[in-house]
Amino acid sequence: MPRYHAPLADIRFVLQDLLQVEQLAALPGYQDATPDLIFPVIAEGARLCEEVLFPLNQSGDAEGCRLENGRVTTPTGFPAAYRAYAGGGWTGLACAPEDGGMGLPELVYFVMEEMVSSANLAFGIYPGLSRGVYNALRRHGDEALKRRYLPRLADGSWAGTMCLTEPQAGTDLGLVRTRAEPDHQGGYAITGTKIFISAGDHDLTANIVHLVLARLPGAPAGSRGISLFLVPKILPADDADDPDGGPDGGPDGGLGAANRVTCGGLEHKMGIRGSSTCVLNFDRATGWLVGPPHKGLAAMFTMMNAARLAVALQGLGLAEVAYQNALAYARERLQGRALKGARSPGGPADPLLVHPDIRRMLLTMRAWNEGGRALAYWIGLHLDREARHPDPAIRQAAGELVALMIPVLKALLTDLGFEATNLALQVYGGHGYIRDNGMEHYVRDARITQLYEGTNGIQALDLVGRKLPQATGRLLRHFFHPLAAELEDLGHGPDPVLAALAAPLAKAFGRLQNATVTVAIRGAADPDEAAAVASDYLKLFGLVALGAMWLRMARVAQARLGAGAGAGAGAGAGEGDRFYRDKLDTARFFMAKLLPQTGALYAAVQAGGETVMAPALA
Ligand SMILES: Cc1cc2nc3c(=O)[nH]c(=O)nc-3n(C[C@H](O)[C@H](O)[C@H](O)COP(=O)(O)OP(=O)(O)OC[C@H]3O[C@@H](n4cnc5c(N)ncnc54)[C@H](O)[C@@H]3O)c2cc1C
Repeated sequence: MPRYHAPLADIRFVLQDLLQVEQLAALPGYQDATPDLIFPVIAEGARLCEEVLFPLNQSGDAEGCRLENGRVTTPTGFPAAYRAYAGGGWTGLACAPEDGGMGLPELVYFVMEEMVSSANLAFGIYPGLSRGVYNALRRHGDEALKRRYLPRLADGSWAGTMCLTEPQAGTDLGLVRTRAEPDHQGGYAITGTKIFISAGDHDLTANIVHLVLARLPGAPAGSRGISLFLVPKILPADDADDPDGGPDGGPDGGLGAANRVTCGGLEHKMGIRGSSTCVLNFDRATGWLVGPPHKGLAAMFTMMNAARLAVALQGLGLAEVAYQNALAYARERLQGRALKGARSPGGPADPLLVHPDIRRMLLTMRAWNEGGRALAYWIGLHLDREARHPDPAIRQAAGELVALMIPVLKALLTDLGFEATNLALQVYGGHGYIRDNGMEHYVRDARITQLYEGTNGIQALDLVGRKLPQATGRLLRHFFHPLAAELEDLGHGPDPVLAALAAPLAKAFGRLQNATVTVAIRGAADPDEAAAVASDYLKLFGLVALGAMWLRMARVAQARLGAGAGAGAGAGAGEGDRFYRDKLDTARFFMAKLLPQTGALYAAVQAGGETVMAPALA
């Protein structure tokens, strides 16, 4: 049986030591979000993840979802767990207080998203999508829709979905065929079939709010002719006799007749089997326009950007739980002897942990996970700055950094998440391949994160094709300039430990800068040149970004050690010294063993696209 303990010491280290989370309380609207509030909330969330969600992870995978008589049921225990989740206010964690939410920062939501994904990714998809619908509706919906739907999404009594994909329209949403015709009562009749819809139907909530991409009559072809509609599973009660509105409330939210949306089938999947993935048929279903006509894709991007960050945290969450189990197993499993003599001479063999190759795998996971956590939470902090900072220049800079880093985080943390779950399986040997230990489950679950919310190949194209050239490279400068200054500072500073860590990072950063120029110049002349190296470039970028986090974490750890053991926030009493030494050790491992991958990636970028595009593949 696998196990999971929320990594609260490391979470606290990142939030408090690295990011100075107390600065959030200075942002308007977040006055109450002090560390005194945030950390108990996180601890309570961790308890829910460990005690309620995690125990249902393996059974949910084994049982999966069922479709019977047109109704989808989730695995045993999911409805009760959802009631505990919604009842505890977790669906409204970062929703606005005026909608009944807790109004906590995005950064806190990030922490919860990671922990939920570690505990039970399949479960987390249901409230995760509702959160995305809440955000999109709050930003783009009209007042009547907001009044009716936002409080129900915030309190979790209703759930949400995003309905983009159709059989012929996957990555290319310009091919969407679902139609929307005015019903002359202020709404639209939506007709079409959507596939692969996560949480498309289930038994967790009384209503489901679908956000659906569809075309209005006479809409321009392609992605410029797509509009966004809200289509509920159950219509409001008042609509039957009062199409213009009426009572929104009532104990059940004013639920009326079933809308003409049916679940036509459940996908049989490799992983996340406790999450229902549905074919949804819309047969003149009633819906309402969200945002302006033909601007649906832009509105949907509000949801997709948040979802991409959430998926990055899914990759991290799975990598974390896989690492924890691999580490525990390596401590317990006895096989072979240490090469330089037995470490446990009294026992039949030494634990796996003594073997260099096992240590390599465990440290690789640790370096990716702790670096990835720092990177993701750092971006979470900037999301809050973008939303709340009183200075418009800071808001803009934060927003641009977030926009730049969304494709990097999504692709990097999900690729590494898949690799980490595979490494964890490898640490278990053959015992990882059989189902009982849960490792193959993490590998299967991690695989989807590289595919949905835009495949990782598409994230790489977004980075090189949209984010790099945007505003003549200004987005990039929000990452490059501070890093250059830090490297200058630490590389030539008085601390030899930090200088030794800064040197390889400076080299890798130089590669990234050169690669950026190469991609920009060659890509301007021939788009295939940029596209052919986009994935290599993104990984190079991601490794440098992880390196930047490791350097910052090492700087904090050095300072804490210098100030005396246990001086910082990142560890329990008496463990501070060890905690910060581990940080420095992992930083050294990352710079020496993982960052050099940037050399190979740089060479691949410089090699350009000719060897990709010239060979015949037909
Ligand atoms: C379990 C699961 C849950 C999902 N949940 C949802 C959901 O809730 N809502 C929803 O709307 N959709 C959902 N999806 C759909 C998912 O987002 C799509 O599968 C994904 O966007 C890719 O589309 P596709 O599968 O049609 O692949 P395709 O678009 O056919 O792509 C196939 C391959 O070609 C590449 N490719 C495609 N176009 C290009 C291009 N222009 N340049 C370079 N490479 C390209 C892709 O990267 C990919 O590797 C889900 C899918 C799964 C499997």
